[in-house]
Amino acid sequence: MIKSVGFIGWRGMVGSVLLNRMIEENDFLKITPHFFSTSQFGKDGPTINNTVFKNVKDAYNLSLLEEMDIIVTCQGGFYTDTIYPKLRKKNWNGYWIDAASTLRVKNDSVIVLDPINLKAIKQAVDNGIKTFVGSNCTVSLMLMALGGLFQQKLIEWISVSTYQAASGAGANYVIELLKQMGSLYNIVSEDLSNDFCSILEITKKVTKIIQDNSFPLKHFSVPLAGSLIPWIDSDIGTGQSREEWKGQFETNKILDSKNIVKIDGICVRISSIRCHSQSILMKLNKNISLKNIEEIIFNHNQWVNFIPNNIEETISKLTPSAVTGTLNIPVGRLRKSSIGNKYFSAFTVGDQLLWGAAEPLRRMLNLLTNI
Ligand code: NAP
Repeated sequence: MIKSVGFIGWRGMVGSVLLNRMIEENDFLKITPHFFSTSQFGKDGPTINNTVFKNVKDAYNLSLLEEMDIIVTCQGGFYTDTIYPKLRKKNWNGYWIDAASTLRVKNDSVIVLDPINLKAIKQAVDNGIKTFVGSNCTVSLMLMALGGLFQQKLIEWISVSTYQAASGAGANYVIELLKQMGSLYNIVSEDLSNDFCSILEITKKVTKIIQDNSFPLKHFSVPLAGSLIPWIDSDIGTGQSREEWKGQFETNKILDSKNIVKIDGICVRISSIRCHSQSILMKLNKNISLKNIEEIIFNHNQWVNFIPNNIEETISKLTPSAVTGTLNIPVGRLRKSSIGNKYFSAFTVGDQLLWGAAEPLRRMLNLLTNI
């Protein structure tokens, strides 16, 4: 039977990438889609295969939601917190697929990343689990990159620094970053075409506008263009940000680890538009050769690809601009660290809107529509 699938959050960063991937893969031919919005109901929805989906439904209307076999939400934690418990209380027994972090901590939810935990996902479906949640973006990307080492239980701990794109925070943050970049450019545009303009003058003007009240700060609250923000998500009160806390918790939940793999680090927002990068130092529990490690990493899945540790390939292939819009997970800067024999460094980049968000949800939806 063709399933009715309700989409909430399809206008946003994750949702629009999800729709795009579903169109590319002809997924809409397998379902009856219904589009909901918290702000646009009554208006036109997306255009799919030349059909405009008219009259978007109200995402807070429980009766309409109850008619869905599957709900896919990329709307955010507030929406999930508000609607999910009410729907379940009304004994709605459909599948709930979610991009937000809210339900990841629940015992009766499964975090989905099928190249890593397909067996557990299928088992959960067989056992009647109805709630499937995408993982934190950097967690998914790290697991896709180092999946082989995790699978062989070779990692003792990981210390990671992340370099996370503006789009990781949502559509309005990308718009704000671009406005910030525009302000920087506008203030010095004439100077840039004057070969004799002093660079000191240019940097002074740029610094002044960054600190000016007119600089666009509604969403980030501090400058990102020409700067960075070394804190992502809320403060959990232990010195870690929530984004940093998710690293160890979600990785081990996905792996269903008996022995916890320790993961910690600092998560940083940078001014790339799309793609999260991670600089990793890991301690393995065995002294194995670099060659062996490369084989384990690059044989794990079809998306991970090897970037030799040289300047040219690193700067051309291991960057957000090279990876954006693709499912590739390049891993490079791979070497034995000078700290010791069991310590390795690596750098990886991935499109956080694809493998870090939309793609695992799309694949979960496919799995459920094929039942
Ligand atoms: P988002 O871009 O802010 O979109 C969420 C919703 O905000 C949209 O569906 C839309 O809802 C509304 N919206 C308000 N202004 C908008 C605008 N200018 N353009 C488009 N939509 C606008 O959020 P998101 O980044 O997709 O994140 C959704 C959820 O996924 C969050 O829980 C997030 O934590 C999670 N997630 C995000 C990423 C990522 O890389 N962004 C990765 C993994 C997980 P209405 O149509 O109802 O108004």
